[in-house]
Amino acid sequence: MVVSNAQGCGTSRVEEGAARTDGYHLVVDALKLNGVSTIYGLVGIPVTDLARVAQASGIRFLGFRHESAAGHAAAAAGFLTGRPGVCLTVSGPGFLNGLVSLANATTNCFPMIQIAGSSERSIIDLKRGDYEELDQFAIAQPLAKAAYRVDRAQDIGLGVARAIRTAASGRPGGVYLDIPAAVLGEVLDAEAGAASLRQVVDPAPCQLPSAPAVDRAIALLARAQRPLIVLGKGAAYAQADTAIRQFVESTGIPFLPMSMAKGLLPDDHAQSVVAARSLALHDADVVMLIGARLNWLLSHGEAPHWNPDAQFIQVEIDPTELDSNQPISAPLVGDIGSVIDALNRHESTARINAPQVWQQMLAAKSAHNVASMAARLAARTEPGKPMGFYAALRAVRDVLARHRDVYVVNEGANTLDYTRNVIDMYLPRHRLDSGTWGVMGIGLGYAIGAAIETGQPVVAIEGDSAFGFSGMEMETICRYRLPITVVVFNNGGIYKGDGVNSASTDPSPTTLMRDAHYDRLIESFGGTGYFVTTPDELGAALAASIAAGQPALIDCVIDPTDGTESGHLTSFNPAGIEKH
Ligand code: ADP
Ligand code: MG
Repeated sequence: MVVSNAQGCGTSRVEEGAARTDGYHLVVDALKLNGVSTIYGLVGIPVTDLARVAQASGIRFLGFRHESAAGHAAAAAGFLTGRPGVCLTVSGPGFLNGLVSLANATTNCFPMIQIAGSSERSIIDLKRGDYEELDQFAIAQPLAKAAYRVDRAQDIGLGVARAIRTAASGRPGGVYLDIPAAVLGEVLDAEAGAASLRQVVDPAPCQLPSAPAVDRAIALLARAQRPLIVLGKGAAYAQADTAIRQFVESTGIPFLPMSMAKGLLPDDHAQSVVAARSLALHDADVVMLIGARLNWLLSHGEAPHWNPDAQFIQVEIDPTELDSNQPISAPLVGDIGSVIDALNRHESTARINAPQVWQQMLAAKSAHNVASMAARLAARTEPGKPMGFYAALRAVRDVLARHRDVYVVNEGANTLDYTRNVIDMYLPRHRLDSGTWGVMGIGLGYAIGAAIETGQPVVAIEGDSAFGFSGMEMETICRYRLPITVVVFNNGGIYKGDGVNSASTDPSPTTLMRDAHYDRLIESFGGTGYFVTTPDELGAALAASIAAGQPALIDCVIDPTDGTESGHLTSFNPAGIEKH
């Protein structure tokens, strides 16, 4: 029998005599109390009942085939909604599988909570050998924003509240919450249990910049001859879209979106310098970073990519990020919404006007680069040859331009680089990709998270190698009938499909099966598979699958000789065999 507890969550159990509850129910009640409506996970000992109780209570449970994909889905949910996505894993190996996604969420500043059951502490700590024995708490600690362990059922409410607060506030990140099996099974008085729960008030409070910091930044921008705004995924995450647009447009400052900030302002916006990136970085004299780190993705702000005399303004929630690469002349510490509001309200903002010559210089360069890209995209494939990346992406671009509400997920090497450059985005937070770690394996997890959280169609554009890391989640996509189309750019290899091994009959390290039919994989789960060899076939298949709103996989045959080793990251390869 089920009764309402003090918070009205209605999952406490009534046994003989006084009402009793247990750790499983308290975890679910605590999550519900804090507005968690979906759990992404994979069950087994000791968390199977946790998923059952969650489902019975009205929380949606999405069951995956591998914990890292479940965690990536939770991380995508965190990025898209601003509330921590929740992932549930078993102990030991399941916990470790999930940890990749927790570390990835932390690196990318996405709020996420991984909850794992764990084995008996008294046995783990003396290394006596338990089922799935692992000191999970200690292992998670350095890889997450924080790790917490609940040692008594009466502390479950506290543990969940701490996890939510830590994941969402300040710089968002991944939090590990360890709940030993014994705590999940602990029985206690229902009234005391209900009273132990906590609702987190304002999980990510606004953080306002100081007035002198705002004055300093405005003064610097006002003096700039060649100002540039770099929008990062922190700016997309902040959901301050209107304020950011107002600031950019009222100042006329050219802006460069990082890959997951594409669409925050549309890529075809007159002030976008996405097509004149090198010139913008190289020549800008004052650069305003909004939710973007000066890490490897921005060449650490260093010459020759950047103007060595450039001065930086950084809008950032985490003060320890400042000066991590270049000196920051005007730090603006606070949440992006509050900072941009303060800038918009400042009396001198109306007088900032990016100089016309600079705007014209960038516009001319953009026009030139757009024209050369158009020529590359228009090039026809030689008869008898498989299509290359550009020919395939031309077809994808034409379809997606008609479906601007589609969420795009993207991973691979060449597939990532080419797609990012070719596919324009028009709406905020509609592009999710390999991100700060350049990680492979996020694809289907992110796609599932995006489909569940938004209810919109998702197109995942995957290299054939990248697809392999989470390919079994095609079954998950089909089981839940999600409106996801996976496009596999199948060039038969990692980077390229023409790797050679001259020493033996084994395939080269970069070789994958050239004739793999990934479309048949989805057919075995009842989804729709397409096998395409021309841009026209690809465009038709993509249009049909988006319209159908059902699981689909398009195996797109790509020229195995197209692309480059390491994509655009060749410089990260140490001098080695390829270079001699
Ligand atoms: P990109 O890879 O797109 O350049 P990064 O992930 O490097 O973006 O940078 C995102 C930055 O945004 C991080 O330093 C993070 O601390 C910051 N950030 C995230 N959310 C907010 C927010 N609401 N307000 C201010 N800064 C934020
Ligand atoms: Mg490939």
